[in-house]
Amino acid sequence: MSVDKNIFRLWRRNQPETFDFHSGAGQGKVHWNSEEEIERYVPTHCCYCGIQCGMYLKVSHGKVVGVEPREDFPLNHGMLCPKGATAYQTVNHPDRLMYPLMRRNGKDSPLERASWDEVLDVIAQRFQAIQAEYGKDAVSIFSGSSMTNEKCYIMGKLARVALGTRHCDYNGRLCMSSATGANERVLGLDRASNPISDMLHADCIFVIGANVGECFPIVTSYLWQARDRGCKLIVADPRQTPIARTADIFLPLRPGTDSALLNGMLHVIIKEGLIDEDFLRERTVGWEETKALVEQYPPERVARVCGLRPEAIIDAARMYGQAKAALTYTARGLEHQSKGVDNGVTAMNLALATGNFGRPGAGCGTLTGQGNGQGGREVGQKASQLPGCRDIENPNDRAYICSVWGIDEKDLPHAGYAATLMIPAMLRKEIRACFMVCTNAMVSLPDQHTVERALRGLDLFVVTDFFLSETAELADIVLPGTVWAEDEGTTTNLEGRVVKYNKAVEPPGEAKRDWEIACELAKRLGKEQYFRFTSAREIFDELRLCTKGAKSDYWGITYEKIAEQNGVFWPCPSEDHPGTPRLYEERFGFPDGKAHMHPIPYIPPAEEPDEEYPMVLTTGRVVYHYLSGNQTRRTPFLKEQAPFPWVEMHERAAARLGIEDGDWVTVRTRRGEMTVPALVVRSIRPDTMFIPYHYGHNQAANQLTNPVLEPMMKIPEYKVCAASAVRATERPDWAKELDVSELDAARKRRHELPMAQAKAQPMLH
Ligand code: SF4
Repeated sequence: MSVDKNIFRLWRRNQPETFDFHSGAGQGKVHWNSEEEIERYVPTHCCYCGIQCGMYLKVSHGKVVGVEPREDFPLNHGMLCPKGATAYQTVNHPDRLMYPLMRRNGKDSPLERASWDEVLDVIAQRFQAIQAEYGKDAVSIFSGSSMTNEKCYIMGKLARVALGTRHCDYNGRLCMSSATGANERVLGLDRASNPISDMLHADCIFVIGANVGECFPIVTSYLWQARDRGCKLIVADPRQTPIARTADIFLPLRPGTDSALLNGMLHVIIKEGLIDEDFLRERTVGWEETKALVEQYPPERVARVCGLRPEAIIDAARMYGQAKAALTYTARGLEHQSKGVDNGVTAMNLALATGNFGRPGAGCGTLTGQGNGQGGREVGQKASQLPGCRDIENPNDRAYICSVWGIDEKDLPHAGYAATLMIPAMLRKEIRACFMVCTNAMVSLPDQHTVERALRGLDLFVVTDFFLSETAELADIVLPGTVWAEDEGTTTNLEGRVVKYNKAVEPPGEAKRDWEIACELAKRLGKEQYFRFTSAREIFDELRLCTKGAKSDYWGITYEKIAEQNGVFWPCPSEDHPGTPRLYEERFGFPDGKAHMHPIPYIPPAEEPDEEYPMVLTTGRVVYHYLSGNQTRRTPFLKEQAPFPWVEMHERAAARLGIEDGDWVTVRTRRGEMTVPALVVRSIRPDTMFIPYHYGHNQAANQLTNPVLEPMMKIPEYKVCAASAVRATERPDWAKELDVSELDAARKRRHELPMAQAKAQPMLH
């Protein structure tokens, strides 16, 4: 696809030679690469977070040499955050995997270069042998959600049709699956109810458990525009995040107490007569039970549970309840908990009780961290679902998908293990082989030491990636995959807007696209007739058909329409349908058309502080890194900004422990310990510590986190566990080679982040 150069030049002429990156968590300049003779500007989207900002990749002599933000894409309007502005540097990175690697002489032998024919033959033969001996379900697929919809779809089909295993799941299980569970329980559809632009119609925005400025930087521009129009902002978070610094009300709640806070706010809203009785009567069921439950949550009780002042809870409830239109946004802070689904339900109860759905500026949404976190969970790679969010146990859904795929219903496996349950199944030798795609489990999963044992114990472990990740290091066979710039395909952003990546360059060396690898493997497994795809477009057309009439209906979405409309929101049931930016204007997603409210009692986190582990450890992201850091830790500018992890702690906690800023601190939990430098701040609760999770090996925060799972969606409790901290007597091995000035520089840069700056507003007490 070519760009209208006249439009592009007109836009470009108005730009300075550098542009500000715009993150809400920091600012900087990215220089245009003006020395290269640019041959093509390829319109596409950022490969990182769920906003999917529009960008042009600049191509010169067959290589991606730079990036420019797209002014025409409605979400980012010419802005990119530091990750987006540097994403292109992964394309030609010297660490790219160029050819397959294999251990030829057992687990302890080195990874050696191999041919595609050799590795694919070995994989197919070994998978077949393992399945012949232990059953079809002894082989699993652990897929990812940073791939296009087409690739995610193919992974689900590879599992169900080519391998015939029921164990297929994806790493979105670790990310926004609590939001999925809450959406399905309350609203009947799994999607944000509103486009992000609806922020400009809201009178109040309530952000709970979402570090918008660092994790979804471009959304901050909408927040600021909304604030300019008089919109109120409430932020609830154990840390004073960048947006919390400007909030009208900031609620620094104790980690893991979200549902208590939300029940308490609803209690106040009822007492003050701020509920929407007509909406509740006409559009919901379950209100009376919910109302009876929240009676038990007066602000005084909730304040004790959450570590807040009762007046702050009352003020927040009034501000939210009095708004004509209120939007609620959640993210991993609320969702990464063993009560994550319940937390999401309580947020929706609050919105429903006040009639905040189905209107401009009124609704709920989860801010999706993975680039295709939304699409990846819709297109049939989840343990319990077929494409279109169809239920794998529903006879009609099974029959329909089998008719599209041309297979017998009895050959379609039933629901399998969630990704987090695959690890114990590997340890039990129930799963003996795994094909892991686009997932860095050795950074992302909790309780890393157990995960390592499980992966090392597999009879065959195959990883596809474009860099040798911490997980690929453990594999028996590593397949070189492609980055987003090397293929076309669609993703679905955090709004439910389907957008399209366009190919800028060919894959390097012998790297192959994930869908090509899947088709070649299927051929060797004797299932070629179901995988005769020659392009991403052909896969998308089959995916569209699979979703026809389903909950997430893509039938009316075509590549051409995406280009014409700059993205299409599902559901889009026919080619002449424009798509559906705002949901629930008339009906919710259940057959009765109503929203289903549920009474949710507050239940504490699985681990609470005690004598041995007196503090709470929470984990999360920083603006400079994406997920496991496999890409961003290789990007020079991003690595320089945040080269290694640290532990953030309040100055009063630090003083009590005899720890000073920059000291080395050993943080312990029941799973393990790690030593990192201290970042002493005022922007975190004094009873809480924070470690960013983007790092691997002995820098991985997930050495410490609690693998306890949420019962419905099986998401781990990354955000709350009991921990202790002591001043370390020496640096950890990974830091011994670093010189003092490097360490000091890194600490100063972290202090410069607004995250660490609460000096003007000592709101945490
Ligand atoms: Fe936009 Fe997210 Fe990419 Fe940043 S990481 S440029 S906010 S899509």
